[in-house]
Amino acid sequence: MGLAARILEQEPTGKFRHMIHDEVDKWVDQIIDEVFEEGKKPTVMELSQLFSETKQKFFGACLQALIEQKYAGLLEQEYAPCPQCGKMCKSRRDNLKQMVTMQGPSALKRPWFYCADCSYGFSPLDKALEISRKKHQFDVQKKSTRTVAEVPFSSGSELFAELTDHPVSDHFIHDTFERVGAYACLEDVVPSQEEIAARCQRVNESSWRPVLVVASDGAHVPTRPKAKRNEKRGQGRWQEAKGFRIYLLGKDRIVHVASWHQIQNEEQFGKDLSFVASRISQDNLRIGLLGDGADWLWKHMVSCFPKGRQILDYFHCAEHIHKVAKLQYGEKSQKCLEWVESTITRLFYAEVDNVIWGLQRMKPRDGLAKEEIRKLIGYLQNNRERIHYRGDRIGGYPIGSGGIESANKFICHTRMKRSGAWWVKETGNEMLGIRCAIYNGTYDKVFEKYKTANLPQ
Ligand SMILES: [Zn+2]
Repeated sequence: MGLAARILEQEPTGKFRHMIHDEVDKWVDQIIDEVFEEGKKPTVMELSQLFSETKQKFFGACLQALIEQKYAGLLEQEYAPCPQCGKMCKSRRDNLKQMVTMQGPSALKRPWFYCADCSYGFSPLDKALEISRKKHQFDVQKKSTRTVAEVPFSSGSELFAELTDHPVSDHFIHDTFERVGAYACLEDVVPSQEEIAARCQRVNESSWRPVLVVASDGAHVPTRPKAKRNEKRGQGRWQEAKGFRIYLLGKDRIVHVASWHQIQNEEQFGKDLSFVASRISQDNLRIGLLGDGADWLWKHMVSCFPKGRQILDYFHCAEHIHKVAKLQYGEKSQKCLEWVESTITRLFYAEVDNVIWGLQRMKPRDGLAKEEIRKLIGYLQNNRERIHYRGDRIGGYPIGSGGIESANKFICHTRMKRSGAWWVKETGNEMLGIRCAIYNGTYDKVFEKYKTANLPQ
């Protein structure tokens, strides 16, 4: 070896290069043994499988080599100040940290310090590298949490291992989810004021004042009380997840602003909606409020968006009409279809009083029909001011809450209503929070909060 090469060898980059070449050689040996053996004819699938099995060890070792060179100083550190009291502590021993990243397993032999005064152990290397106390590092934690936001916990770890070749335990995936989920709070799940302003800007076309649509509704989620270890689970019950979706309706596109759903009471729903409303500058927007007939949602939507145009969800309204028609005239009878059509047309032209008048004069076929007619009259009277679909159409407002229905299906039903799943309220709300964050594009921010709170000191 020439002098220049020898000097290069001493440099961290040179050393790193050397270490990597060693690892490549080890890997190549493994491949040769497997592939070039007499009589073996591996297929593409088999070769890919071989790579999956061997690359973890290879990349894990590369990552380890990189750290060893880049942070050589910290690995040899003999004294370090205690992060709590500042007293100089002497390195105890080489402490082995086993860790797993998305690249594979690595092991770091690093000095460990202990301050006897504070009874506090620490590692400056862990701090510099942001190493998680858990064996599986933050990159694995982030992806595994994302995975069980989509699939049930029971199949999450299996699916994660299947797709990433990283085995993780059920306990790890569940525990990490709950820890991250605790950071999925409203303030971080909903985009910031600046981000919302930027989204509004995107639909601000010169000839069209965009409509900000606020659509609220409730969805029932199966819940059960939290049981202690070895205790029998309590009786389950359905509770309402109340939520809203806010989006912008541009001339030819929809821009999502924010979704938020929680298993909570009406009062909390109102507080949450009001918080989100405070992040939206309402001055230059037209606002449409959409909901079904539930009083609680109107009360809060109107108080948070006072100049909003109230629109009774068309589909919800039509459902009521169909119900009466079915009971009064028989399903799919000619009379049934005709009555539905004429009633909906009248409502479309905002002739609500006309429809109520007709209902009041209807001769109910039986007790069931009578009850349903009574309910529909009350419903229309309550929502009289919210039925004006033709005007909504002309003004470019939505008349049906397809927006919230699909958001609800996506956020709530697909994950929360799986057969056999009964949610402890806290975990259910964490799940809803994480799913809203993913939908709102704020999951990175939520995870960052969790990470920051769990960094070594
Ligand atoms: Zn100390």
